[in-house]
Amino acid sequence: MSIKENIIKVTEIKNQAAERAGRSGDDVLLCAVTKTHGGDMINEAIDAGITDIGENKVQEIMDKFDSVKPVRWHMIGHLQTNKVKYIIDKVSMIHSVDSMRLAEEIDRRAGQHGITMDILIQVNSANEESKFGITTEETESLLMEILEKCENIRVRGLMCIAPKADDPNDIAKYFREVKELYDRFAEIKDDKLDFKYLSMGMSHDFEVAIAEGSNFIRVGTAIFGARNYNI
Ligand SMILES: *Cc1c(COP(=O)(O)O)cnc(C)c1O
Repeated sequence: MSIKENIIKVTEIKNQAAERAGRSGDDVLLCAVTKTHGGDMINEAIDAGITDIGENKVQEIMDKFDSVKPVRWHMIGHLQTNKVKYIIDKVSMIHSVDSMRLAEEIDRRAGQHGITMDILIQVNSANEESKFGITTEETESLLMEILEKCENIRVRGLMCIAPKADDPNDIAKYFREVKELYDRFAEIKDDKLDFKYLSMGMSHDFEVAIAEGSNFIRVGTAIFGARNYNI
């Protein structure tokens, strides 16, 4: 199947999952995760209607930026503080903020460019040690500290990566916890705290994520096929 056919299929499944959850398909944004794929494939996806793409490495964003048609770029991977400067003027949103150090650097660089950067806080509600992200308990204190100290950041929501689990019920439970946390903060409206995105769900679990309230899914393999990391 072509990239275009895959996008049509994923969009259909996404829309049906949203409707089953009592929402409109348009309420769930499909972000195509383009890591390891070149500009030609990305442009094919954009031609097929993709408006948002996700990358997890700073280097890949820099390498591809000029060869890709206008689109919103999302930084979805772990971000080192010393690399913020390379992407601050390229991405629309940073999904992976999990420390005050990183938030302060994003704030500083955004200020230099005269922009406000939208960010998500990466939550790790299963507290798996191998993954990035912070615990649900830490999320509130990080949020409050960002609001207090960062002028040029707007917190737009939460992001999570579900742990690997064989039982879909375990994944659903995980997503549900993050959604509950999201709902708590979504009630607060502030210039710098304006929740709109709950970024959860990948190729293998986005239907479950949508059922549990996701409105932003990050899908790579189901659109582009398996990745080859050796190129
Ligand atoms: C690679 C990646 C995805 C997409 O994963 P697929 O299984 O290929 O859909 C989503 N989110 C993050 C953070 C990723 O790194």
